[in-house]
Amino acid sequence: MPAAVLVINAGSSSIKFAAYADAGDNKGDGPDLVCKGQLEGIGSDPGFIVKDAAGGTLCAHDEWPRGSPLDHAGAMRFILGWLDESGLDLDIVAAGHRVVHGGLDYDRPIRIDEAVLTALAALIPLAPLHQPHNLAGIRAIAEVNPSLPQVACFDTAFHRNKPPAAEIFALPRALTDSGIHRYGFHGLSYEYIARRLPQVVPQARRVVVAHLGNGASMCAIRDGRSVDSTMGFTAVDGLPMGTRTGALDPGVVLYLLQARGYTAEAIERLLYKESGLLGVSEISNDMRDLLASDDPRAGEAIDLFCYQIAKNLGALAAAAGGLDAFVFTAGIGEHAAEIRARVCAQAAWMGIRLDPAANERDAQRLSADDSAVSVWVIPTDEERMIAIHTRSVLTHVAAP
Ligand code: ADP
Repeated sequence: MPAAVLVINAGSSSIKFAAYADAGDNKGDGPDLVCKGQLEGIGSDPGFIVKDAAGGTLCAHDEWPRGSPLDHAGAMRFILGWLDESGLDLDIVAAGHRVVHGGLDYDRPIRIDEAVLTALAALIPLAPLHQPHNLAGIRAIAEVNPSLPQVACFDTAFHRNKPPAAEIFALPRALTDSGIHRYGFHGLSYEYIARRLPQVVPQARRVVVAHLGNGASMCAIRDGRSVDSTMGFTAVDGLPMGTRTGALDPGVVLYLLQARGYTAEAIERLLYKESGLLGVSEISNDMRDLLASDDPRAGEAIDLFCYQIAKNLGALAAAAGGLDAFVFTAGIGEHAAEIRARVCAQAAWMGIRLDPAANERDAQRLSADDSAVSVWVIPTDEERMIAIHTRSVLTHVAAP
């Protein structure tokens, strides 16, 4: 029975999970994906789907016995029970969790115990939309299987050792000392890309990565380390996203509070749920819908998105001290050729030239031979990064 790591990404109403078995040689790209699934509709109308590594459906059901709605612990019990009875014959030896915030203290993944859980709970005010649910996933496993080792992998950790000038706000020192920093997020995605870079572009030392999904950010990487990113204290900063504003003059927030009667809750909804591509287009937060639409508001939302990416590319190239390679990743970055083409056209001043045919077919290398900067698509894999970390934290702890 192969030893396997269970990867958990727990959100407010869904738990995404994946199981990775130890690869025989543990070389190459880390452990082998066995299955990947999701239990959604926690607290309302649950649905469950699991796929194998090739994308074939192993289990799908949206008919749920009526009764008391599932909570996180019930959902976790269901997932662990399914894995047990699935016939996949896995020996789950640990659970690795995506945890959005590691605060100032955690710059790497860590084995979870009560003290760690308490420290992570203290960070809930810094990420109120994600951290409580991430921790609910950890507590749920502890309740269902208390002896299973658990590891927290942080979205902030990859950015923890940025240069101080990229780390602090121009705020009074006491506020900085109390933890109001530019943390940066999507760190597990950037770390995975940084791990792939030596295989894909071995000569690139100064790289900008654009993680363009529902959440979107960019990161400047120099010699494998994050030196700056577009996200800051929270995951609402930087690029406009599906429903989030991205960078906004803080004076707008003040004005809405003081002159327009907005409450803190209304501001939170505005910043996180009602803005971005959805707010500008009034059509959809989904890039596919906007690209398919001939409504001028959809065009304006796309223009804004591409402009901000191109503008931040210049800023992050400055942070990296120049630019050898530009990488697209996540849903839009990996699949939306038109967005990549428009961003790169706006970056022509940097000597970036795309090969249009390579771009159209989502090739790994997108740039033309005469491009001053090479341009790439590297699919991200945050779950695999968590599985790799979880394995290595446990091996480390177990070593004498
Ligand atoms: P999440 O942040 O939820 O993990 P993803 O990385 O899955 O997001 O990216 C979701 C985004 O990717 C959506 O805006 C979706 O429209 C976009 N996307 C996915 N496939 C395509 C495609 N073929 N063309 C354009 N956009 C796409």
